[in-house]
Amino acid sequence: MTHAPRHVVVIGAGMVGLSTAWFLQERGVRVTVLDRTGVAAGSSWGNAGWLTPGLATPLPEPAVLRYGIRAVVSPSSPVYVPVTADRRLLEFLVRFARNSTMPRWRRAMGALVPLNSLALDAFDLLRKGGVDAPTHEAESFIAAYRTADERSTLLEEIEHIRACGQPLEYDVLTGDEARAIEPSLSDEVGVALRLHGQRYVTPNSYLLALGASVEERGGRIVAGLRVDRVHATSTRVVVAGESYDAAVVATGAWLNVLARPFGVRLPVQAGRGYSFTVPVETVPRGPVYLPAQRVACTPAGDRLRVAGMMEFRPADAGLDTRRITAIVEAARPFLRGADLDRRRDEWVGSRPCTPDGLPLVGRTRSPRVHVAGGHGMWGITLGPVTGQLLAESMVTGETPAELAPFDPLR
Ligand SMILES: Cc1cc2nc3c(=O)[nH]c(=O)nc-3n(C[C@H](O)[C@H](O)[C@H](O)COP(=O)(O)OP(=O)(O)OC[C@H]3O[C@@H](n4cnc5c(N)ncnc54)[C@H](O)[C@@H]3O)c2cc1C
Repeated sequence: MTHAPRHVVVIGAGMVGLSTAWFLQERGVRVTVLDRTGVAAGSSWGNAGWLTPGLATPLPEPAVLRYGIRAVVSPSSPVYVPVTADRRLLEFLVRFARNSTMPRWRRAMGALVPLNSLALDAFDLLRKGGVDAPTHEAESFIAAYRTADERSTLLEEIEHIRACGQPLEYDVLTGDEARAIEPSLSDEVGVALRLHGQRYVTPNSYLLALGASVEERGGRIVAGLRVDRVHATSTRVVVAGESYDAAVVATGAWLNVLARPFGVRLPVQAGRGYSFTVPVETVPRGPVYLPAQRVACTPAGDRLRVAGMMEFRPADAGLDTRRITAIVEAARPFLRGADLDRRRDEWVGSRPCTPDGLPLVGRTRSPRVHVAGGHGMWGITLGPVTGQLLAESMVTGETPAELAPFDPLR
């Protein structure tokens, strides 16, 4: 395409689609956003809301593989793979397993570091440009464990993260030191780490504010419109009977359906996670992470959101209450003053996971059709910077160096 697009249709009103729409508007492009349900109907609603570029690492890594194997025999494990996996899921898992080696992890991490380093600045641009929702500096960000032995896994990972050029500062704490900072931790916590320089958001309200900002700036958001196909010619793109200069497919865990006809062959598999909110006596001053249990807790107003699980099942499968119970029982021993039995907002969402742990961002076989998605565990942290860089590439015709490793045709 020789000219910058004037009117772009973005399919998917999650963090990635709305951020792309917003940053296209920054560059003077008119946008229409279509969603089969509405703003944040997918994974962007009840996630943990961590803005943690320091921890945004590729999902396929040797430790996850060990969890996956154990999961087949233990239904309450934090990673769940159904024994009745279909052919597509098995193919995904085989490719995922092949990428779960240290050299591949290092290569993928090296690709994420430049994106991570711009991630928080992109949130600041959104805020300055009128998105009426705060990002919170985490006054404390505690990773809590029973034993020092359990903690050694994250300490080792942090060293690998830093060796790839991603800064991450932390303090090593005893259980008592951690409780002095965060009284909502129970006596079960024997040791901890305190991470610095990370932020968090309340994702559902953040997404509503982002959507409102897109509309205030003249964008149109159409809810309840499910797109079945994108038609592209050399001059136009037609979606749901309307014509545009270009399209962005940002449909999260459903990305393959619309992107495959344009040469995007890498599978995007739903890695489903669950969350709920509970009342707490003292709302923590920042996220509380229970890495050995794979549970993430985040302040959500006057409540605490508790999230976890990685369930490789179809994106549209229903909520399985056994997974909620598994998270409750995993978290219970570690939290003081949290009433885990008075849950609200029980939710399941589908992380869009790729087998190599890297997102798919950029042009497809059609110069008029772009994709943005596949961020797995980190689409909230990385959504805005993704939208910023994709908008730049669509308007200038030049792919920013940071996006090169995420070529959707790889
Ligand atoms: C439990 C849990 C905790 C998480 N915690 C964090 C965290 O702390 N930090 C972080 O950075 N990330 C986190 N994530 C990951 C993050 O939520 C995702 O990576 C991110 O939300 C993906 O955004 P997206 O816009 O690509 O997809 P989605 O938010 O899923 O949006 C896709 C949209 O496309 C729409 N759609 C799909 N198909 C069609 C169609 N055919 N036509 C029209 N519309 C369609 C859907 O309705 C949906 O609204 C977590 C995820 C889970 C599940």
